[in-house]
Amino acid sequence: MKETKYYTCEYCFKEYEPKRRRVQKYCSNSCRSSAFQLRKASQKNKDKSLPSIKSSEILQVPKTEKISAAGVGNAALGVLAVDAAKSLLTSRKNKPATKGDIDLLIEKLGGRYHFVKNLQPNIYGDYPFYDLMEGKIVYLKT
Ligand SMILES: [Zn+2]
Repeated sequence: MKETKYYTCEYCFKEYEPKRRRVQKYCSNSCRSSAFQLRKASQKNKDKSLPSIKSSEILQVPKTEKISAAGVGNAALGVLAVDAAKSLLTSRKNKPATKGDIDLLIEKLGGRYHFVKNLQPNIYGDYPFYDLMEGKIVYLKT
């Protein structure tokens, strides 16, 4: 008794009469190899969907909040400048420092902004400066 059952090709979904029953999944060799290539390609894409992140690509954001005035002073201004800045802050508390006082100090120290050597540039590539007017670290384009 001859079997007349047709198989459906798993690649092109065409009905065909199998030459080797049970083991045959495709109507032709070309469908078999095409299906194999497709499976191989999709396997590759699966691997690509989970890229490994290199540690060098992780941006390090400098923590500007925790820098003490002393740390900045040692790096950029020196001990003398720190003392000057401290006395400026003190005089501000007791009596409002005049514009002239601040201008004099800035002139003595050679400018309002002082480059901070022991801090990294921020994520935008701006460099850290100690702002004598504000008494804090600011990032400026150079
Ligand atoms: Zn086929």
